[in-house]
Amino acid sequence: MTTTTDQLPLLLEEIEVVAVERLSPSFVRVVFGSSALADLGVDGPLYDQRIKLVFPNATGRLPSMEGADESWFESWLDIPEEERGAMRTYTVRALRGTGVDTRLVVDLVLHGEGDESGPGGDWAAHAEVGQRVITIAPRRGVPFGGIEFAPGTAKRLLLVGDETAVPAVAAVLEGLPPTARGAVFLEVPVAGDVLPLDGPSGVDVHWLPRDGAPRGAAIHAAVLEHLGEEPVVPVVDEIDPDLWETPTYSSSGEDVDTAVRAVGHEFDDLYAWIAGESSMVTGLRRAMVRDLGIDRHQVAFMGYWRLGVAMRS
Ligand SMILES: Cc1cc2nc3c(=O)[nH]c(=O)nc-3n(C[C@H](O)[C@H](O)[C@H](O)COP(=O)(O)OP(=O)(O)OC[C@H]3O[C@@H](n4cnc5c(N)ncnc54)[C@H](O)[C@@H]3O)c2cc1C
Repeated sequence: MTTTTDQLPLLLEEIEVVAVERLSPSFVRVVFGSSALADLGVDGPLYDQRIKLVFPNATGRLPSMEGADESWFESWLDIPEEERGAMRTYTVRALRGTGVDTRLVVDLVLHGEGDESGPGGDWAAHAEVGQRVITIAPRRGVPFGGIEFAPGTAKRLLLVGDETAVPAVAAVLEGLPPTARGAVFLEVPVAGDVLPLDGPSGVDVHWLPRDGAPRGAAIHAAVLEHLGEEPVVPVVDEIDPDLWETPTYSSSGEDVDTAVRAVGHEFDDLYAWIAGESSMVTGLRRAMVRDLGIDRHQVAFMGYWRLGVAMRS
């Protein structure tokens, strides 16, 4: 056991793979167990709850986080790069069971090989029962953050994501009340990645397999069409790799509170949640906020990853 302490307000624990299921060509479901997961949980629906996973280093070892305190992230960064493994962000797809039998379910995207892949994708491609990772995850009863889905009183929902956001959208749909209304657009690599989703009957789910077409093009057009606009091709020259804009936070440093709130606008009853590759998210941000004038307080735009760029943590 290389972790940790029950003094931390979050879980920082080594966990073990107890099941691996290949869901489709691009998704592998990994189920983790550990007696420490008895304390894992959030108050209320999971929605898009994010967690961190630390994958083993090149020698197959996990770093020791023994005695970690609230500076756990800095302590991890202080470990020599070749020893500390790789930290990446994932979504809690589901929690199963209770107490020491609690299981954490994570759906990981398999992407590329060699230069196009990364530690997370590589680990997922070879995941086996008995392997261990470290998770940083919410401790039940303690505020952790990491849930961005916050529709407030919106009457219609728009959820948009690429394959990396499918686990989050699936968990959000499961957490919605049966009266919820809206539309979901999910872009996935191939038709075989269309997965069964449970959600309210008033939320229509549209799957958009790329099947070799350029990333982001079909989903941009489909979302604009859904909003009653011409399905134009997005022109995205500058991309913010850290794009993260929610009604309460802006990665650009914009003063969120002073942003104008739309009143009497045709989209006033909408809440949109958009996550995936940063250029797709940037294109939709421009179309929706700049061109259609949708109030940014009604939209969460989240760059989950950036093509060609390895995540830092
Ligand atoms: C809040 C949040 C929640 C997330 N939830 C999930 C989740 O539940 N499941 C999941 O699989 N991912 C999820 N992601 C995305 C995941 O963190 C990134 O895809 C991450 O880059 C994967 O790490 P890696 O080590 O495989 O690749 P990296 O080392 O980060 O990157 C190596 C190379 O692979 C490319 N790459 C990375 N991801 C992809 C991809 N998906 N498709 C194609 N190329 C890629 C990069 O552009 C780079 O060229 C989430 C991200 C965030 C921010």
